[in-house]
Amino acid sequence: MSIVLTGAVLVDRARKSVDTADLGISSGRISGAQDGSERVDVSGCVVMPGLVCAHHHLYSSLARGMPGPADPPRNFLQILERVWWRLDRALDLDAVHLSSLLGAVTAARAGTTAVVDHHASPEVIDGSLDALADGLDRAGMRSVICYEVSDRHGEERGRAGIAENLRFLDSNRRPLVRAMMGAHASFTIGPENLEALAGAAREQGVPVHIHLAEDDCDERDSLDRYGLRTAQRLASAGALEEGDLLAHGVHLDRDEIATVRSSGAWVAHNPRSNMNNRVGDAPVLEMGERVVLGTDGIDGDMFAETRACYLKSREASSSAGPDFSADRLGAGASFVGSMFGEPALGSFEPGAPADLIVLDAGAPTPLTASNSAGHLVFGYTAQHVRDVMVAGTWVVRNRRHQLVDEDELNARCRDAAPKLWASMEDF
Ligand SMILES: [Zn+2]
Repeated sequence: MSIVLTGAVLVDRARKSVDTADLGISSGRISGAQDGSERVDVSGCVVMPGLVCAHHHLYSSLARGMPGPADPPRNFLQILERVWWRLDRALDLDAVHLSSLLGAVTAARAGTTAVVDHHASPEVIDGSLDALADGLDRAGMRSVICYEVSDRHGEERGRAGIAENLRFLDSNRRPLVRAMMGAHASFTIGPENLEALAGAAREQGVPVHIHLAEDDCDERDSLDRYGLRTAQRLASAGALEEGDLLAHGVHLDRDEIATVRSSGAWVAHNPRSNMNNRVGDAPVLEMGERVVLGTDGIDGDMFAETRACYLKSREASSSAGPDFSADRLGAGASFVGSMFGEPALGSFEPGAPADLIVLDAGAPTPLTASNSAGHLVFGYTAQHVRDVMVAGTWVVRNRRHQLVDEDELNARCRDAAPKLWASMEDF
């Protein structure tokens, strides 16, 4: 299939360009315009590479509108214990699949074309990554997934998490899905399983995806039990190396930031989640170029996350401009591109995967290569997303998902969600 998008304003921040030009797509990739191509008029629209959510928990998709616990949590650990560690235990494989499908459709409708997911379902570990991947695949979403290894329900389930990551790495053949080695966080993983998961990741040649210093409780636990701060503990266990993905990093001190930066690991910044959980302000302005953006399960809306990143960066420093946040969003595509062996992902370079979005909004003020970050942070929102393409396939057209019947999906979710919430009472 070959297509030419005609008359678009192409905003390609990776290549620092804004042009009004036609964009050819052939065999799932950006190409020159070819004879016989289907022509799609997008004049008056802005077209940009698809957005990347670099840290998500799709298992939380059915939690929208869920009543809070009777005894409201007062700190981060209580939020995990009373909400998320009960929800994830209530999941069966059908609920994992449905959550994945709903989260992937919701993200696509917001202009997100790739999701990096960190999954947990402690009562159904074996096979859960296939249930998750099938939902993402069905929705046409590009993804990188893992199971978060944790000893919070005993070391045996920690080992089962490692086994699930390895099983999936060995068996997955889906062209739009890649896998990593997941790990929950230092404070729920003992020495044996931390070394085992790090060793397995290195043997498989895949990165580790772990929460790091999200709350101070992670640092205190590591200092109390091992005499090391979290980044040093991970590094000494081989779980912090180039290409690894560390979520949050809110409580990293200066030495840990230096350790993370020199390692070549990525840091996923989740500003809305940090505010929601009141864990503190992540010192991301000091963390270098490998900071990417994630939603941490709040939703799949990277326009909203980028704006929140901008506002938090302004709160932290008067010298932070819109480019910092827009570049962090763009860096997510570099991470996902590294997982797919596609260094041009996130740009309109010829040969790059055709992951793109069409916004039915022009620019009411001049839009140039030098101010596109300002338009991204102050102008465009998920509401402007009209069409979405992943690997050359239209996933959303005219605000309707093309691969999933959204009305039917929503009806299924409205039926399943209250049952899931009720079953949390068992845990
Ligand atoms: Zn997370």
